[in-house]
Amino acid sequence: PATLYMVATPIGNVADISLRALHLLGLCDRLAAEDTRNTAQLLSRYGIAKPMIAAHDHNENEAAERIVAFLAAGERVAFVSDAGTPGISDPGGRLVEAARAAGYGVMPLPGASAVTTAISAAGAWASTFTFVGFLASKTKQRAGQLDALAGHPHAIVLYEAPHRIEETMRAARDALGGTRRVLIARELTKLHESIHRATLAEGPEWLARDANHRRGEFVLVIEGAPAPGDGERDAAAHDGLLRALLDE
Ligand code: SAM
Repeated sequence: PATLYMVATPIGNVADISLRALHLLGLCDRLAAEDTRNTAQLLSRYGIAKPMIAAHDHNENEAAERIVAFLAAGERVAFVSDAGTPGISDPGGRLVEAARAAGYGVMPLPGASAVTTAISAAGAWASTFTFVGFLASKTKQRAGQLDALAGHPHAIVLYEAPHRIEETMRAARDALGGTRRVLIARELTKLHESIHRATLAEGPEWLARDANHRRGEFVLVIEGAPAPGDGERDAAAHDGLLRALLDE
């Protein structure tokens, strides 16, 4: 029956796609893709070719209308974002809402995501986490976002691009203090994957030390605020809170 399938694709290593996803991509009637060229390349590795439409951030509403029309014609439509799981710092959310509003089913096919991949290599301290994704690019806005998270008890997961990673790391240290653990996960599942463990105080220096440390795609997992009574680390969290209050 006419259904919108939200299909996860690899975040690097092309083998990280499920058998179920390949099966579904092979039998769907149409593919909606964030980047049709990238997706065509991925599918050609598996001998799959499908009629495609583009559905990205800038045309998601219009693409949603077209997809609903295909569903109305009885088609099975699969959506894939550029990498990883749709709807996670990626388009897909508005397509889901449009399909649901028009009365069609939405079926998710799970798979790779940079957030779950990084968490799986972090440790027990990060098993409860809040996914934030990309922070604002403006300095002041970003500092405000981090200050607001200073007392948050869960680990924080951030996505970041190479040209901003150092700046973001420094902003995190300034807002959250230097003592928390951070996992700097870079190029996950790819040839130059690196997973570096540090404290927030050490992070900026590690990034500055070697240009290779700043190349590629990043996930930062930052330890949550210390439990009340954890003296030294309490003080660090209070710094962030005080800064927010002073700004007010
Ligand atoms: N939908 C994707 C997911 O499920 O993870 C995220 C897409 S978002 C536009 C791209 C960002 O995700 C990158 O800037 C980076 O922060 C993170 N990312 C994606 N692939 C990654 C990888 N292989 N290693 C580290 N981070 C990655």
